[in-house]
Amino acid sequence: MSKVMTRRKFMGKTGQALAMGGTAVCGGSALTARGATHRPAKGVNYYEKLGIRPFINAAGTYTVLSASTMPEEVQDAISIASKYPVQLEELLRASGEYLAKRLQCEAALVTAGAASALTLGTAACVSRGNADAILNIPLDMTGLKNEVIVQKTHRYDYDHALRNCATRFVEVETLADYDAAFTERTVMAHFFNAAEGGQISREDWVRVAHQHGVPCFNDASADVPPVANLWNYTKMGFDLVTFSGGKGIRGPQCTGLLLGRKDLIEAAMKNNSPYSNTIGRGMKVAKEEIVGLVAAVDWLLAQDEDAMQKEFQQRAERIAERVKSVPTVETRITVPPVANHVPHLQITYDPNRIKLTGKEVMAKMREGTPRIELNPATGGGSASKGLESEVSTIVVGVWMLQPGEDLVVARRLREVLLEAARA
Ligand SMILES: *Cc1c(COP(=O)(O)O)cnc(C)c1O
Repeated sequence: MSKVMTRRKFMGKTGQALAMGGTAVCGGSALTARGATHRPAKGVNYYEKLGIRPFINAAGTYTVLSASTMPEEVQDAISIASKYPVQLEELLRASGEYLAKRLQCEAALVTAGAASALTLGTAACVSRGNADAILNIPLDMTGLKNEVIVQKTHRYDYDHALRNCATRFVEVETLADYDAAFTERTVMAHFFNAAEGGQISREDWVRVAHQHGVPCFNDASADVPPVANLWNYTKMGFDLVTFSGGKGIRGPQCTGLLLGRKDLIEAAMKNNSPYSNTIGRGMKVAKEEIVGLVAAVDWLLAQDEDAMQKEFQQRAERIAERVKSVPTVETRITVPPVANHVPHLQITYDPNRIKLTGKEVMAKMREGTPRIELNPATGGGSASKGLESEVSTIVVGVWMLQPGEDLVVARRLREVLLEAARA
């Protein structure tokens, strides 16, 4: 009880400070006034120097919005790592072994993001046991397998990361199609974990691929939480699995995890920086980032997941409570099923009463002070399965908010909606 009270009190205070000093959030001391997890930092604020206005993240972990921010433990680990030179290969191997143990898989590699892991994992499948292939991908594919089987509904915006290795997709729909699609040129079977639709289950996907002796890859980039997903899919038998380092894991945005079979992770390493004549040489991960991702995984595994989800739910409820009294406004809290699996607040209203589209609300929030970014599903945009929305729907992602910012978002939303309702 007293714990709860203290926290409330604290959040109330922080919220007030933020609400009073709107400019403190986005102006001068942006990096020092964001609440409990952002203590004052020493040094020059280059956002200010460059005229960049940070925002309150009421969106989520979207790449163009710089995804997540790192917890203090991670920032500290990066700061220490940045002071000492190390051998990159030693660090990559040691971090890989450490992560594999913590994440209960055979082997792991820190990559320059999940998209990079997709390229390196594909390169691993194409080149395993063939040193010349590492040099030749993607221009000379003579004698190399290059067909990747995928469900039609699993084609997505990250296809290019696989096509970098000069592979081509073979699309299937039914389980029978899938079984019949394997040829002597099949190099990999690819699965998009958060795909909408698709008739073939993860278990069948793995089983049939293995019957044909072909490795399968699962892209689960945005699918933490739940934290257990970090081992669920490798345990299910996927030979390679990737997660973004900078989304729910909250490590550096330019990192990712490639997890899986030892021989394939080894092959992926050989296609990567620091080795020069490889497809991955431009995907360098620095010592700070490697350490940052390891520290983020340690941070995540130390969290109480239920308590985190409860906190997100309460943030959504606090915002809902404050906007509900605006005429015609209705609220609903939804949790997307796979990716971005945390409570989101969906706000709907009668567009005849509040004469603003969701996109217009979004623009006003972005232009205002403090600057606030709403979830890209707002106004009918596409953001994640399970966040369906229409022209007059506002979606608030609460999981990347700093303590107290939920109240700032609520106050600003209320202001924008009320003003439009009166017009
Ligand atoms: C975000 C995302 C990626 C890319 O992740 P990065 O870490 O930004 O490279 C790949 N696949 C899916 C499904 C994603 O959501």
